Amino acid sequence: MRSCKMPSGSEIPVFGIGTWRMGESDSKRARELEAIRYALELDYPMIDTAEMYGDGGAEEIIGEALTGKRKRPFIVSKVYPHNATRSGTIAACERSLKRLKLERIDLYLLHWRGGVRLAETYEAFHRLREAGKIADFGVSNFDASDMAEAARLDNGLTATNQVLYCLSRRGPEYDLLPWMRQRSIPLMAYSPLDQGRLLGNATLKKLAGELRCTPAQVALAWVLAQPGVVTIPKSSTRERVKENLGALDVKLSREALAELDRAFPPPKSKQSLAML
Ligand code: NAP
Repeated sequence: MRSCKMPSGSEIPVFGIGTWRMGESDSKRARELEAIRYALELDYPMIDTAEMYGDGGAEEIIGEALTGKRKRPFIVSKVYPHNATRSGTIAACERSLKRLKLERIDLYLLHWRGGVRLAETYEAFHRLREAGKIADFGVSNFDASDMAEAARLDNGLTATNQVLYCLSRRGPEYDLLPWMRQRSIPLMAYSPLDQGRLLGNATLKKLAGELRCTPAQVALAWVLAQPGVVTIPKSSTRERVKENLGALDVKLSREALAELDRAFPPPKSKQSLAML
């Protein structure tokens, strides 16, 4: 499986499964657990979650799916901004570890910027890392100016910035992505299918027909074709969990990439960071 190097020197897989909206309702739980179990069976190399998702319910599903497994994927979780004080971050991480039934989270992120001083959150991240409770830390929904502030506090260790990035949301290409590439910080692209909105697009459908794959696989292959970018499509549907992983085998030619640029033009000026 392909991976990207983070500033700490550790590797992050380029592909994983997202879990937003999982763990929210008892009636959907069995299906969601089955989707995560299937992702593990297929050797998905990464799972993205957060204390926010289903109020801890998504982390509990992952913990249950991992029970009894000898090998586990790279696990990403996130702290709520309102919990991200010095002591609050540490307590939130410990609660996440308990739900996930893990000793260590591979990558722990500040979910978005809130009212707590960033210096406090980073102090907690450093402490958690020293205690071995997290391996790496980073941020989410940070624009270029926030990243510059984080860089002053991180001892060169901010591992990633997880942001909305897909064919229909290319704003980060103007300044954020070049800023991150210059520092070899991988960008984690969330909502790579624009939550399904991309899939009816005529160009995606046409290319999918030519490449004998699906529109979702074309959309994901495009994200995966961007250097220094990793992604985490979410699905609670067994067939789609498999379909999405298949995007790793889809190669987009120079002509296909140019056609996608015409259908989804890259930004020509600064756009403020969009967030879902
Ligand atoms: P997404 O992955 O772009 O799309 C998920 C939606 O598309 C679901 O409704 C899913 O439905 C559907 N879908 C998935 N695969 C499909 C396929 N092959 N064909 C047709 N439909 C498909 O959106 P997302 O969940 O917002 O983003 C992915 C992950 O990024 C999240 O789950 C979360 O882990 C993370 N995220 C982070 C933030 C942040 O602020 N840091 C924000 C948003 C998301 P089914 O489940 O029914 O298959």
